[in-house]
Amino acid sequence: MSTFSNVSRRRFLLTAGASAAGSIFLKGCLGNPPSMTTTSTAEVANAAAVDISPEQMPETPTAKLGYIPIVESAPLVIAKEKGFFAKYGMTNVEVSKQANWASARDNVTIGSQGGGIDGGQWQMPMPHLLTEGIITNGQKIPMYVLAQLNTQGNGIAIAGTHKGKGLQLDISNAADYIKGFQSSQGRKFKAAHTFPNVNQDFWIRYWFAAGGVNPDTDIDLLAVPPAETVQGMRNGSMDAFSTGDPWPYRIVTDGIGHMAALTHQMWKFHPEEYLAIRADWVDQNPKATKALLKGLMEAQQWCDRPENRAELVQICAGRNYFNIPTDVLTPPYEGKYEMGDGNQAVNDIKAGPLYWKDDIGSVSYPYKSHDLWFLTESMRWGFHRDRLTDFDVARKIIDAVNREDLWREAAKEAGFDADIPESTSRGVETFFDGKTFDPENPDAYINSLEIKTV
Ligand code: CA
Repeated sequence: MSTFSNVSRRRFLLTAGASAAGSIFLKGCLGNPPSMTTTSTAEVANAAAVDISPEQMPETPTAKLGYIPIVESAPLVIAKEKGFFAKYGMTNVEVSKQANWASARDNVTIGSQGGGIDGGQWQMPMPHLLTEGIITNGQKIPMYVLAQLNTQGNGIAIAGTHKGKGLQLDISNAADYIKGFQSSQGRKFKAAHTFPNVNQDFWIRYWFAAGGVNPDTDIDLLAVPPAETVQGMRNGSMDAFSTGDPWPYRIVTDGIGHMAALTHQMWKFHPEEYLAIRADWVDQNPKATKALLKGLMEAQQWCDRPENRAELVQICAGRNYFNIPTDVLTPPYEGKYEMGDGNQAVNDIKAGPLYWKDDIGSVSYPYKSHDLWFLTESMRWGFHRDRLTDFDVARKIIDAVNREDLWREAAKEAGFDADIPESTSRGVETFFDGKTFDPENPDAYINSLEIKTV
């Protein structure tokens, strides 16, 4: 790159940054003033002359992406704050905090034109459920899955009242204690997640079932807001919580309870949360979609570099984003987890959230085999039984929703060729209890499971 283009790019990024700051300042009372938008559009044209070829110039510099203030959203926050979206011409991306998963669902249903969002961060398989109208009262909101945001970073927390009862990674020895709750306590053992039929529900179901506890019949498992769950764990009305960073750190350090398991221990480098955007937006703006993906990919690479983690924590913990003390967010990014209840602490940077690469391969690339696991697990528990009737239906939904082809094109255009996987399948997956999921034979996986609702 010539000195001239370096100077131009820097000027472009500085100006884009300034107008972004202006937007934040004014957003509360005025909305985005037109003059700011005009400025940044002019700067996009300027940048295009230097860096972006006409074939790759985004149709629009504007997108509105929702996020939840947990570590899964870090690449979206970093792509915005470190100028990676702007670098590829997406100078007017709003990364918009969502109150909870139901709000994100409602906001993507109305879209940015209705004051909502174009897409953003999702647990799985929310994009597939939106597409089928399953979580929107039948209203189909076709979505495209574009990239995975992260792997790992979640876990199972247990209330302090269960100290010493054997509620660890393998709960085989505690199964009778959990199942006997009704007779000993007059109520069932109670566990919470944040939204039904998606990741955190799956992780805690898998963990219970692997230890011989049926999550549908032996316990009460329900969706509860995190703050309410933590309050319940303090006052003895809630027993377990399927949760994500930075909550695990608080559970132990605030003396609320202990961590039975990290999801890293249950399924190493498992798929976690994803970027998905409304299909109509992507179809109208394919170049802008790829520009977003390129910015996200660079952000994910940036996030994984150990030397950037302190700055990542500073940015994400800040008032505009997670609004939490940095010391809550630092340990997971160093892979340091106090487990409590006599469990050995974890100290392995690869046990924490990862964003670009892990020991198996690409974190960012959205493997169709992982979509299939989420839909297979949905079938295991009898979710959406009227729609998800067999694996052919599941594969048809995945083929409509998963746009790994756009990920590949974006990676190629950005020069990340070395990190493009050969196949749409990551192959056979192995869980902590020895079970395996072969995407070529999901029936065998279901058949191998003792506890299920099929
Ligand atoms: Ca999560």
